[in-house]
Amino acid sequence: LETADQYQSDNMVLDPVCGMRINKAHAAATMEFRGQKYYFCLEECRQKFAAEPSRYLTTGSLQP
Ligand SMILES: [Zn+2]
Repeated sequence: LETADQYQSDNMVLDPVCGMRINKAHAAATMEFRGQKYYFCLEECRQKFAAEPSRYLTTGSLQP
């Protein structure tokens, strides 16, 4: 169903550590940083992000 696809894409986010597209509903771990919520495919990815967030936030999407 097209509506189902739309629903899926609305819930898809990028894991900033490994770059994998994941569904918010199925994220293995989440973390809030500077008021924004990030989703991770694995707890390991969250830990990497937590250790060095700036390393993974250089994609340009956060620029003013
Ligand atoms: Zn990941």
